[in-house]
Amino acid sequence: MLKVAHHPIYTYSLPEKHRFPMAKYDLLPKYLLDQGICVQDNFFEPYKISEVAILRVHTADYYHRLLALDIDKKEIRKMGFPLRQELVERGHYIMGGTVQGCEYALQNGVALNIAGGTHHAYADHGEAFCLLNDQAVAARWLLNKFGAGVAKIPNHPESFRDQNDRVINKILIVDLDVHQGNGTAKIFENDDRVFTFSMHGAKNYPFKKEISDLDIGLDDGTQDAEYLEILKNTLPKLIKKVKPDFIFYLSGVDILATDKLGRLSCSIEGCAARDHFVLQTCKDQNIPVQISMGGGYSPDINLIIEAHANTYKMAQSVYFK
Ligand SMILES: [Zn+2]
Repeated sequence: MLKVAHHPIYTYSLPEKHRFPMAKYDLLPKYLLDQGICVQDNFFEPYKISEVAILRVHTADYYHRLLALDIDKKEIRKMGFPLRQELVERGHYIMGGTVQGCEYALQNGVALNIAGGTHHAYADHGEAFCLLNDQAVAARWLLNKFGAGVAKIPNHPESFRDQNDRVINKILIVDLDVHQGNGTAKIFENDDRVFTFSMHGAKNYPFKKEISDLDIGLDDGTQDAEYLEILKNTLPKLIKKVKPDFIFYLSGVDILATDKLGRLSCSIEGCAARDHFVLQTCKDQNIPVQISMGGGYSPDINLIIEAHANTYKMAQSVYFK
């Protein structure tokens, strides 16, 4: 059964007219139920991630300042959210949802998180609505738990063998949010175990891009046909080359033409075709995939919800129908 992380804390109350569509974390699960894409049993409430797991990615200085809300105004402005204890707490459950999603993906092939995709968070600072990097933390968690070092030691408390006796030594991050995964690229800059692939609007934020293992910068106004052609010419070859044991997919829907913060011109159908292609490819190659939501800033929130819901629909149809 498809497993989807969702926690009431995901919906954080923002000042009215804040440009981040926080309501989507509340509306999306309701929509999935209404449309029959999910039933209640698909959802699970994630646990709170541990400090140990966070500190495999984030610096102790940054993390402890975040916990103490000891972040200066300039840094907070960069983050884009009013910083309160609840927001920091929320991040812990989102990361828990991504990590637990990895466990479900190992069992079922795929799992999703209603939030997450916080790819602009660096080891030592946050920016652009991202405080702590969920998929980066989950990637290190997987490597720590299933990496050759521990997984091969019989009865090691951290070792875990599923029925496939799985070892995870190589991870691929497929980041198709319209904005470059700058934080993620920087975090794994010198970590050969994680290959970062980001396909994004070349002229979109972040204006100073980091160097991912593979970056594809798309022209303004790129439409479905071209977008999908580039993706189809890239992803299967990349999987062949990298040979990942696990894939993270960041399925931002800010590639839509209607998006306020994106500069591409994809349709909602094109966005769904993208999700279908990524998931079918993962399934065909028998590589487990965890999906976090990422951005979506179309003025009509219903469009954001519909585009995100398509990712769930594709996961259901590719893996479970
Ligand atoms: Zn984005």
